[in-house]
Amino acid sequence: MENELQTLTHSRLRKRRACARDETWTFDQGYRPIEDEHEARDFGTLWHQAHDVHAKGKKLSSLFEHDIDPISDDEAIRRRQYMRAKVSALWVCYNEYWSEKTFGAKGKDSTRAQPGDDPVVMVPFPNVELYKLIAAEQVFTAPLVNPHTMRKSTIWQLRGAADGVLQDSRERHVVLERKSTSLDITDGSDYFTKLSLDYQLSIYTIGVESLGYETHGCVYDVTKRPGQRPLKATPEEKRKVKKDGTPYANIRYADETPLEFYERIVEAIREDPEKYFQRRFVSRNEGQLFAFLENTWEDAKAKREDQLADRGERRPNPDACFMYGQCHFWSCCSTATHPRDYPDKYQKLDDPFVELREEGA
Ligand code: SF4
Repeated sequence: MENELQTLTHSRLRKRRACARDETWTFDQGYRPIEDEHEARDFGTLWHQAHDVHAKGKKLSSLFEHDIDPISDDEAIRRRQYMRAKVSALWVCYNEYWSEKTFGAKGKDSTRAQPGDDPVVMVPFPNVELYKLIAAEQVFTAPLVNPHTMRKSTIWQLRGAADGVLQDSRERHVVLERKSTSLDITDGSDYFTKLSLDYQLSIYTIGVESLGYETHGCVYDVTKRPGQRPLKATPEEKRKVKKDGTPYANIRYADETPLEFYERIVEAIREDPEKYFQRRFVSRNEGQLFAFLENTWEDAKAKREDQLADRGERRPNPDACFMYGQCHFWSCCSTATHPRDYPDKYQKLDDPFVELREEGA
């Protein structure tokens, strides 16, 4: 529709930087895989759902309950059972860990939280600050501005959904961002150093400020995804027994059940919780916001030129095909076909910004 602004989200910008064809098929044309078993994405979605359901005061059983059902024969259900068992284990340990940090904190802030308080609402920041969640799931729309001229784009707008807005003891506001990752997040890793370059924090800062909050940074609440895989039954020909007829300790007669898997992960996390849970304050200054807007303005201009020349899908980037596991369009690119050729594999969405819709935008 004429004069209707197009949307730029963090995921669209990131996709565009990785592969113009992927971004064009996903956001201009609206193609999405019908069955996408991308573990990291599914895990992240479930993890955010758990926070969301909990923040609304609802029971989490709807998300996790059937983890303790007997193992299913259906491969897809089975995969979901293990995924939910993993998220469920992490959820239990997350609340256990951060509750202890809240209630065990030394100093005046320790009196703010009482046993039974919601550890997700009171966001403890060990030895530094205790933040209060004042707004959850903030969906925003903000103008894209050229930082050199302060002119607003007549083509593009920024949209997104921040996980929340926190308030510190001096009533200053910060953005809350929850992440799950497979990367090392412990002290000395590069995870938090890299955030100084991160565009998502800039887009959220601009977005949350457009809602009327003056912010001075972000609290990153990062959770590492457990890497454990469900254990399989030992093949019959390898089931060796000791002289007394008892099996060796590493012999399994059956696949690990989702409940056993859950218990094994809980035990591993409890042994080393700092490996899985970290929170940091990350500041954002005017220079970083300027750089974000300058680069995004240029990216948006180049994107518009691709749209007008109808050439986005003619710009594949083979270097990105396996950047985050196998790209979900690989079956098209590897056979010189198009997602429309596989109606049983890809659906065409009217609104390609599914994530924003799920957040209630
Ligand atoms: S398979 Fe590779 S070239 Fe094709 S859309 Fe994905 S990243 Fe781009």
